[in-house]
Amino acid sequence: ENYHATLEENRKLFNEVQELKGNIRVHCRIRPFLPGEDQTSTTIEYGSDNGELILENPGKQGKEGKKLFKFNKVLGPSASQDEVFKDIQPLIRSVLDGYNVCIFAYGQTGSGKTYTMTGPENATEMDWGVNYRALNDLFHISLSRRDTIMYEVSVQMIEIYNEQIHDLLSTSGSKKLGILNASQPNGFAVPDATKHLVNSSSDVIELMGIGLKNRSIGATALNERSSRSHSIVTIHIQGVDLKTGATLRGALHLVDLAGSERVDRSAATGDRLKEAQHINKSLSALGDVIFSLSQKNAHVPYRNSKLTQVLQNSLGGHAKTLMFVQINPDVSSYAETLSTLKFAERVSGVELGVAKSNK
Ligand code: ADP
Repeated sequence: ENYHATLEENRKLFNEVQELKGNIRVHCRIRPFLPGEDQTSTTIEYGSDNGELILENPGKQGKEGKKLFKFNKVLGPSASQDEVFKDIQPLIRSVLDGYNVCIFAYGQTGSGKTYTMTGPENATEMDWGVNYRALNDLFHISLSRRDTIMYEVSVQMIEIYNEQIHDLLSTSGSKKLGILNASQPNGFAVPDATKHLVNSSSDVIELMGIGLKNRSIGATALNERSSRSHSIVTIHIQGVDLKTGATLRGALHLVDLAGSERVDRSAATGDRLKEAQHINKSLSALGDVIFSLSQKNAHVPYRNSKLTQVLQNSLGGHAKTLMFVQINPDVSSYAETLSTLKFAERVSGVELGVAKSNK
């Protein structure tokens, strides 16, 4: 059947691209239905162990309406936070080995980005998101190495809202920050962002609480503001080899991106329109950068947004990137889901065809 032939071709193409793109991984996470959502219909079929997801256009019958997407992994609605984190553990180790690592959550508002990165509100240890688990691991591994390497860990937390960087750990509340365009190889820097030395994951959790509080200032509701800004928690580590005195540096960026939903341009005006334009611009700049990296392009367009400038050192080179692409399961999200999956396709560096019917 042609449909399967196309799937086969797509799989082959995907595997070839996988070899190329190396240190960029994309995991798709489908959140469960929430109370009140229509659970009877969904437009998504997925394989739990082959990384495949098929999105069905509710307006088109049969195979014409089906489109295949491939990921390094698809995490279904029943995937636990623990399961989600398992694939990240090697990345945490890499940070302590001196790599720069970026972990992103991308998707429309309400698709589970914050759930994945932080966890639900008032989370118990079992529902902890990536951030807390990563920190726990980071301190755990660094302690296990204390006879050979002494680590220093520090934390920064910033937010990018309307292409303006805010320091979330400033003692005087959220503060605007400038960006320095230092020469290569250092890339851009945000020299004035508050940096706190920390000794345990509970220190970091306390700081993240302060950051979260600063983030909500000026917003009518935390959710509103947080869905329209990117938040970046950065953990810097510096290790000194106790025998040789050699030092290594690594960084872990935990990025909860602004909601990717398209704002109706005819309806949005003023602040909303401006926010939408800034979000659009920075998310597509991020897509362009990761795409260029996956293609091993000589020129990588870091300059096009604050987000890509801030993360320049940790995207590309020997850095490692993991992106969670978050999607809603319900039919009414079809259009947004399609646009999210198209973004994922771009950052994966491969665009697969429509799963064609027999002809
Ligand atoms: P976003 O950050 O993308 O706006 P949230 O993380 O706030 O989305 O998720 C929206 C709602 O869905 C929240 O109530 C959240 O607790 C719930 N949710 C998201 N993902 C899951 C999941 N995997 N399991 C259970 N509830 C989830």
